[in-house]
Amino acid sequence: MISVEKALQTILDSVSVLGLEKVNILSALGRVIGEDIYAGRDIPPRDNSAMDGYAVRASDIMGASEKKPVLLEIIEDLPAGSIPKKTVGNKQAARIMTGAFVPEGADTVVAMEKTRIENGHVAVLANVKQGQDIRRAGEDVQRGEKVISKGDVIRPAHVGMLASLGRSFIFVYQKPLIAILSSGDELVDIDDTPSEWKIISSNSYSLAALVLEAGAIPMQLGIAGDRRNDLIEKFRAAMRADLILSSGGVSVGDFDLVKDVMKQEGNRMQFWQVAMKPGQPLAFGSLENVPVIGLPGNPVSSMVSFEQFARPAILKMMGHTKLFRRTITARLTEAITKKPGKKHFIRGIIERNENGYTARTTGEQGSGILKSMVKANGLIILPEETTEVRVGDKVTVQLLDDSLSMLPQPPY
Ligand code: AMP
Ligand code: MG
Repeated sequence: MISVEKALQTILDSVSVLGLEKVNILSALGRVIGEDIYAGRDIPPRDNSAMDGYAVRASDIMGASEKKPVLLEIIEDLPAGSIPKKTVGNKQAARIMTGAFVPEGADTVVAMEKTRIENGHVAVLANVKQGQDIRRAGEDVQRGEKVISKGDVIRPAHVGMLASLGRSFIFVYQKPLIAILSSGDELVDIDDTPSEWKIISSNSYSLAALVLEAGAIPMQLGIAGDRRNDLIEKFRAAMRADLILSSGGVSVGDFDLVKDVMKQEGNRMQFWQVAMKPGQPLAFGSLENVPVIGLPGNPVSSMVSFEQFARPAILKMMGHTKLFRRTITARLTEAITKKPGKKHFIRGIIERNENGYTARTTGEQGSGILKSMVKANGLIILPEETTEVRVGDKVTVQLLDDSLSMLPQPPY
């Protein structure tokens, strides 16, 4: 039996980052960019007005006030998108709207509310300092500047930046295709009529959902019976995937054949059994050269094991550098006891109050209690050697709910 850390390292070392593909910037949302983006132009391209008002020469309006207005001749009207034709000279102004380019000669914009119209002229009623309310060319982005780095995750702001640079397509890391197959003679698929002797293969769906949530493409291969040929046939169909996830058939029972198939010629089993609960009977290897994570069949075990091993591997394949869910420290509001020897992942309900995070269990922790995963927003992690934690003790929690992870860590 190996440790969770060793198992994770072995799996991560066995998967590689996929190649790149060119996608539309909207399809790139949430994906990892595989190129550096340099600005091909200044944004904004020229000096423009930040306000509706008048483009003037600061030297003309020095000392202007309500009592001593400065009168300027209006030479032009500049709505946004217009091209200035005239140069603003002494005692002249151009009426200008937000976003319109500042005409030659002007160095300052006086906002509309600091002016009034008198006899067809504009009267400036305030002393405005030079450069006021002008957005400078290149103040957002300068031509040649690196604005997005290879490895960044594309968020809506990145999409906007790419659009403003005229980039409609970018290179991102490919999404891995993840084959999912379940094994067990007791299983039926979701729309089959479940007799009281059968159970629906919920893992086929929870695992596909986890794959989707991680941003990859699930390929649902359905159910293999507990017969070697059945399994081999399903595995064969999975060979075009980047990673195979199987569930079930990795325990010590008579019909736990997934390990056997992994040990066959041309295949490789790297380890079996990890010192964790739930999820001990995890197998990892490869079929020909496709990595296979043999997840345990129990619904909670398969999900918890996916979280610990498959999700980081999938994120690595997609070019992510942050591979792990965020962990926080919480104070227990409930005591927990355990046997030493394995790392426990206890389904927890995490809350936050003014003193920080609190954690309690979801109740019954059996590895068949899928409801515990439904209720949980975090996994309370108790190290191998721990036997007891009491109310008020600090524990590490792996957050499963991203909205909680947005909250800052309170100062413990
Ligand atoms: P196994 O790991 O094959 O010994 O399976 C352990 C238990 O997990 C089985 O007795 C089933 O109750 C349950 N199980 C196995 N596969 C699935 C599945 N695909 N969906 C839901 N439950 C499953
Ligand atoms: Mg089974």
